[in-house]
Amino acid sequence: MHAKSTPSYLAGYPLELKKQVQRLIEQDLLPSVLLQKYPHAHAVRSDKALYDYVLDVKDLYLRNAGQLSKVTFDGKLHVIQYALGTHTRISRVQGTKLKAKREIRIAELFKEMPHEFLRMIVVHELAHIKEREHNKAFYQLCRHMEPDYHQLEFDLRAYLTYLEATGQPLWSAASFNSVSLLNEK
Ligand SMILES: [Zn+2]
Repeated sequence: MHAKSTPSYLAGYPLELKKQVQRLIEQDLLPSVLLQKYPHAHAVRSDKALYDYVLDVKDLYLRNAGQLSKVTFDGKLHVIQYALGTHTRISRVQGTKLKAKREIRIAELFKEMPHEFLRMIVVHELAHIKEREHNKAFYQLCRHMEPDYHQLEFDLRAYLTYLEATGQPLWSAASFNSVSLLNEK
């Protein structure tokens, strides 16, 4: 298996961790490590379901942070280093009032991932409502909403590195169905 030499998704992490991920990919061990930790794909399959999911998390932690006008999966969103999702705030003058329109877009490949990874990216984008930059306050807010945030982000980036190297998703809609069938036996 040919894995790329520098996993760009892990650019910010210590060399030892990058090497560890690299080895797991080369030895084809990363799939079983990740699948053991996160066996199931989530069931948030539509934009409507995503909107409801994001709103539930927001109501719990950021109730007073303004309205979200739109939440969607976005197939055109390129998953690069810090653009796993986007959060935009468009200010428009309506009559005499300045209204802020907030949108959250989540890269479409999060449709076929475990619930924990979806939660991580949702928490990330929600935290941007309060903190624009990836600073200390931003990550504190992420951890407040999801205590395991840092581990999840690392595991997600390890998976994205694997996906880039192999092109083989570990959690597909098909595998979600077969897992459900297995559980029914
Ligand atoms: Zn961000």
